[in-house]
Amino acid sequence: MFNMKAVQPTQLNLESGFKFKCHPGVSCFTRCCSNIDIMLTPYDVLRLKRRLGISSEEFIEKYTIIRADKNSSHPYAYLKMTDAEGKLCPFLKVPDGCTIYADRPVSCRYYPIGQGTLKKRDDAGKIIHEEFYFFVKEPHCKGYDEPDEWTIATWKDDQEITLYDSMNRDWKEILMRRNLPNQPALDEKKRLQFFMASYDLDKFRRFVLDSRFFDIFDVPEEQQKAVAESEEAMMKLGFKYLKFILGLEQTLAVKEQHLKKKKE
Ligand code: SF4
Ligand code: SF4
Repeated sequence: MFNMKAVQPTQLNLESGFKFKCHPGVSCFTRCCSNIDIMLTPYDVLRLKRRLGISSEEFIEKYTIIRADKNSSHPYAYLKMTDAEGKLCPFLKVPDGCTIYADRPVSCRYYPIGQGTLKKRDDAGKIIHEEFYFFVKEPHCKGYDEPDEWTIATWKDDQEITLYDSMNRDWKEILMRRNLPNQPALDEKKRLQFFMASYDLDKFRRFVLDSRFFDIFDVPEEQQKAVAESEEAMMKLGFKYLKFILGLEQTLAVKEQHLKKKKE
């Protein structure tokens, strides 16, 4: 979402400190909310469509553009800037600021911190992913001149990033495991399934509840009840479904009787 030239080379950890505050009194207020790339996560879309009182289909249609990732070929949703001069974020109201602030995407919450992941091997030789952080210092951003003190950890809590990251954790894991050069591209069916389970929660809900999903997959009754009642639980079932169809993990078990029927 930011200019890569603004990325500071020092790698930071949760204890790293900095001074920052963004508020309506800074001379740059709202300057960072236009002409930017904001890749959306599943939990961003859930919160935003709920906030706006619209379906996931309507949200996707109205507020996103879709681009395929060059390594994984995953279709990712990005927030669509308006056609107005300066390409403003659709949720920006000048001079007041963000109109959906309590439900803003996780990228907006992180700013001015960037986050990356290093792939490493642990002592047993198993591949692990280690998170690191970095500062994004864009020349127009005056927030760094403000006196409020943070560590990355306190910033993440204050901005509700910890919640967003925990909600998106399994989805991000899928991205990391598939984000490798020379991956075979997803076929059309898997591409559509990836998109539905990642972003189109209302469609995925119909796919699960109005189909034979629970006749095919062995999902405990409590979990069936939870996904029928909670969008968050349905989203997490979507991540399990993705890991299963992408062949990453046996996160879902196919029922015996379904396997037998298939053999007959
Ligand atoms: S440029 Fe920095 S200080 Fe200014 S509004 Fe954006 S985040 Fe806040
Ligand atoms: S969602 Fe809000 S904080 Fe994020 S770019 Fe748009 S107006 Fe700015």
